[in-house]
Amino acid sequence: MYKLTIEEKVYACQADETVLDALLRGNVNISYACKKGTCHSCLVRSLDAVPPEAAQAGLKDTLKKRNHFLACLCHPEQDMAIKLPDQSEFYTEGTVVVNEMLNRNTLLLAVAFKDAFEFNAGQFVNLQRADGLTRSYSIANIPQESNTLEFHIRRLPGGKFSGWLHDEIRVGDSIAVSEPRGHCFYLPERHGQGILLVGTGTGLAPLAGILTDALAHGHSGPIYLFHGSREFEDLYRIDELCQLAQRHQNFHYIPCLSGKHVPAGFSHGRADEVALASLPDLKAWRVFLCGHPDMVKQMKKMAFLKGASMKDIYADAFLATPV
Ligand SMILES: Cc1cc2nc3c(=O)[nH]c(=O)nc-3n(C[C@H](O)[C@H](O)[C@H](O)COP(=O)(O)OP(=O)(O)OC[C@H]3O[C@@H](n4cnc5c(N)ncnc54)[C@H](O)[C@@H]3O)c2cc1C
Repeated sequence: MYKLTIEEKVYACQADETVLDALLRGNVNISYACKKGTCHSCLVRSLDAVPPEAAQAGLKDTLKKRNHFLACLCHPEQDMAIKLPDQSEFYTEGTVVVNEMLNRNTLLLAVAFKDAFEFNAGQFVNLQRADGLTRSYSIANIPQESNTLEFHIRRLPGGKFSGWLHDEIRVGDSIAVSEPRGHCFYLPERHGQGILLVGTGTGLAPLAGILTDALAHGHSGPIYLFHGSREFEDLYRIDELCQLAQRHQNFHYIPCLSGKHVPAGFSHGRADEVALASLPDLKAWRVFLCGHPDMVKQMKKMAFLKGASMKDIYADAFLATPV
């Protein structure tokens, strides 16, 4: 057992327990979301001990040098004095400028900033409520458009954060937004390469950003987007994507429905299954997978088995926050 000290209060960290779990057990108000080292919302700083290497995985060198680490990945190797972050260091206040429904349970939220917000289309940010509740959301637009970020937010039954965004956030409200994170974005290179985009539900958000970015960069290879849900009512932006496919000969949009009722023009089946049946050889393709964690995991494996190189497979699993 090691001692964790925060402003003179001491918390015990049991063997096999992470710093995050020990602090949550001690009722410390620390922000967190994925508990897997992806979202970085539990970033804290050690004031004395050098954090274990594994707890700094994926952090910028500048943060590593200053002994920042991810509490969810940290199994302490000695006692540590810890400083919780000053949120203003990592979060910028934005103002909600658009709040409208894209379908029966998906909200389009646009947040504007005073200064330029630098990001790559397809990355995600953490949004934070005043009480510290934090969740990750993918950016759906491209940086060239304005100082604005767009998000597609699906309401989950009983969802704390998505319910708050759907029911309470209004145009004119401010919201705290983290730096952009993640490596699931388009790089303007190998313009003739095939690009496969597969997403479920609001997995369309990062894929829409990546697609817009690729087309804006004049990507000339085939681009296939398979967007899936169970019911027709849970897809969105259908007309817009059909029109985009008409304007760009190399872009193909395949909306997929896995439920019983499948109107004409839609493919029957899960988006990943339809994609694999339509494109059996993915050798030399770039693959982007976003949305339900099971789909992402399964499709990553299948894309590799169908010939895509691991370094060309980019994925964002929309992991739930563990309770
Ligand atoms: C990198 C990343 C990017 C993301 N991008 C988006 C995005 O663009 N749009 C979007 O809508 N969401 C996105 N998410 C998911 C988002 O961060 C939240 O997990 C989601 O909004 C639920 O939060 P909540 O507080 O409303 O639900 P919670 O209160 O945390 O959970 C409520 C209930 O829903 C279940 N649940 C939670 N998350 C999911 C899920 N993803 N699928 C199924 N059940 C779930 C929980 O187990 C629980 O029973 C992303 C997640 C990650 C990690």
